[in-house]
Amino acid sequence: MRILISCDMEGISGIVDWEQVTPGTAEWGRGRKLMVGDVNAAINGAFVGGAEKVTVSDAHWHARTLELEDLDPRAHLNSGSPSPFSMLQGLEDGPENGRERYEAVVLIGFHAMAGAKKAVLCHTWSDKVAGVWLNDVHVGEIGLNAATAGHFGIPVIALSGDRVACLEAQTLLGQDLEVAVVKEGAGRFAAECLPLAEARERICDAVAKAVTKYRAGQKRAPFTLASPVRLVVEFQLPQHVDNAYLLPGTTRLSGTRLEYSAADMVMAMRAFRAMTLLAGNN
Ligand SMILES: [Zn+2]
Repeated sequence: MRILISCDMEGISGIVDWEQVTPGTAEWGRGRKLMVGDVNAAINGAFVGGAEKVTVSDAHWHARTLELEDLDPRAHLNSGSPSPFSMLQGLEDGPENGRERYEAVVLIGFHAMAGAKKAVLCHTWSDKVAGVWLNDVHVGEIGLNAATAGHFGIPVIALSGDRVACLEAQTLLGQDLEVAVVKEGAGRFAAECLPLAEARERICDAVAKAVTKYRAGQKRAPFTLASPVRLVVEFQLPQHVDNAYLLPGTTRLSGTRLEYSAADMVMAMRAFRAMTLLAGNN
């Protein structure tokens, strides 16, 4: 069984501020150390549960946050950006391109969607984005990535983050999703953090249990959307849309809202990434 672990940073144990997740700041080195600690716990959990191969996709910023030399040596690392599948780089692997298919996805260090209450560093992809809907379902990065994995028939089987991120994931993907709550948000920049040893034990246990269940035949359903996928993005300011609507095929629903009809979820994700890149240019 081959597992893909996507590792973001804002939902990592101990992280509460942009300063800890932004390259070049005083706390960047410390944030990276915290991140690799959580992801190594997840890698270990995957092998404890019976996975044969584990690949980690670095899902934060320019995707060069994790350092290969510090990663559990049993895991491979997808590093660098931009890549075709970004936070889930490698997702398209399969016999048709000479690779072994991933059977399940694990999301580590994930955070709640933009605008969430008492959710540490909540946002959706970019600080320009206020909200995202896929076929009228309100989603953040958890939903965007789960739906992209779902396009390939691959389920999300476990997730770690703060309590609100874990609740968001279970509400969207099902209460049987294994989660590891590593901190309780008190605000966007404040949280009660678990001791690291306990947080990482929770992560290892959640992933091990999820992989064990999967191998025992209790396979979770992938999160799939009907095609075409109707993508709606609410931006923070009208000038963000002045640029984002340059993407051909978009319809401007209001000063701050864009709609795009995508053939499938992979195309919806490409359109979303293009819109946010364009919106960032002002
Ligand atoms: Zn993120």
